[in-house]
Amino acid sequence: MTHPRLSFSLKDRFGGFVVLLLFGPPGCGKGTQARMVSSWLGIPAVSTGDLLRAEVGARTPLGVVAAAIMETGGLVGDSLVNAMLVRRVEHSDCARGFLLDGFPRTVAQAGFLDDYLASRQLPPGRVIHLEVERHTLIDRMSARRQCPVCGRIYNTLHQPPRSNGVCDNDGAVLIRRKDDHESIVRQRLKEYDELTGPVLHHYCGPRLHSIDGGQPAERVFEDITAAIQWASEREPSSAA
Ligand SMILES: [Zn+2]
Repeated sequence: MTHPRLSFSLKDRFGGFVVLLLFGPPGCGKGTQARMVSSWLGIPAVSTGDLLRAEVGARTPLGVVAAAIMETGGLVGDSLVNAMLVRRVEHSDCARGFLLDGFPRTVAQAGFLDDYLASRQLPPGRVIHLEVERHTLIDRMSARRQCPVCGRIYNTLHQPPRSNGVCDNDGAVLIRRKDDHESIVRQRLKEYDELTGPVLHHYCGPRLHSIDGGQPAERVFEDITAAIQWASEREPSSAA
């Protein structure tokens, strides 16, 4: 795949630093876009879900606290997630910016991020919201199949296996994951709307870019890059 070239104006306007926040409902293709955008801009895609799992796995002091909370069925609080995020984005690979996936999850986290970026005199985060019609998401997720052996994900509509119903890698019979059944998908979408609505509202204004996520992945990516370039050309200064 050929990525559009990073324009010089984009680098100049952001002072070489970009903070992108990627939002989208389950099944919108967010993971794919996070990888494409991160490779285009040369910045890491930071997923707070992955970070949390890594901290727990490595039994860091933060991970031990988080694991104890999760074992009792509790939600890891904002202060813990915020601390974990700050540690991650202060790594040297974030010297030119970072893309956040799964953060901020609450309005309080969004406020924390605003303050944190301002305190480091970094540009405020730009929000990319992938919008996909509910029926499209339900169709996509209902068409998902997974290999129980190697874990590979297929989609009977867009990425079917070569041979109907079995894995290309190992020939195992593909299964439908429990959380891809329609009633569960509907429930997850409802939870997403309830959780994310207030956060998106926090970013309402010129920082928020809504992208039609119902298109093929290549087109979605083109729209995202166009929105970022458009915004960078209109940004008065990197630390505004
Ligand atoms: Zn397999």
